[in-house]
Amino acid sequence: MPELPEMETYRIMLSERIAGKLITGAAVTRDKTINMEPDAFISDVVGRTVWFVERRGKHLLLHLDDGRRLVIHLMLGGSLYYGDEEDRPDRTVQVELSFGSHKLFGIGLRLGYVHLLSAKEAVERFKELGPEPLDPRLTAASFRKLFQGKRGVLKSALVDQQTIAGIGNCYSDEICFTASIRPNTRIPSLRDEEWERLFRATQSVLRDATAAGGYMESPTFLGDTLTGGYNERCRVYDRGGQPCLQCGTAIEQSEVASKKMFYCPSCQPEQ
Ligand SMILES: [Zn+2]
Repeated sequence: MPELPEMETYRIMLSERIAGKLITGAAVTRDKTINMEPDAFISDVVGRTVWFVERRGKHLLLHLDDGRRLVIHLMLGGSLYYGDEEDRPDRTVQVELSFGSHKLFGIGLRLGYVHLLSAKEAVERFKELGPEPLDPRLTAASFRKLFQGKRGVLKSALVDQQTIAGIGNCYSDEICFTASIRPNTRIPSLRDEEWERLFRATQSVLRDATAAGGYMESPTFLGDTLTGGYNERCRVYDRGGQPCLQCGTAIEQSEVASKKMFYCPSCQPEQ
């Protein structure tokens, strides 16, 4: 599932391509992907201009010139592609928005969605969401406070969108590796210096992954060479049995709180 770096990569790439552009057409082939009748959805979005593209957690928000937002969540298996008709993806497209000769295709949106919301509805939708990990206002101390009172394991809290937004299965493991903490460590047992490392690791991993284009492999447009650049750079995620790039020990794969976790048993010693 795409996480903060993947969605931020989409935000940057789509901002360059659709910000300030008029939506000249729309099509919906799966009613459940949107939040209203397809005809109403199409007539509401066509003729609107996309002012700018924002990201909040794992959501992408296309701000329209009537104050409404198209909120996109890709969930598991969803992706976006921007191209012309000749370049149409060879997969079922659930929602498409036309910008003249080019289209934004929403693909694999079985669980994912594209919802048209008013400003008020958007505020309501995101009110439970935790802060952005890369918000410059977030300090080591306020980061630690987010986890205050939690008794569970670190991995569960990192992927909990109400605690902190945008982190999922992949980056929670990468962050824990960078911080040299095992993902199944209980939160109350984390020491001061570990909180400090965890805060710094969260920022550095998410920044590096965004700069490298995230780990999603499918390109966002023809000639896109950035998207997916981080896939090769993941150090533990999906590397079960392979040698740790830091110490050579085989990366372990196990499960914690019904989620997969990958870690190096030597670089991330059990507490
Ligand atoms: Zn190691």
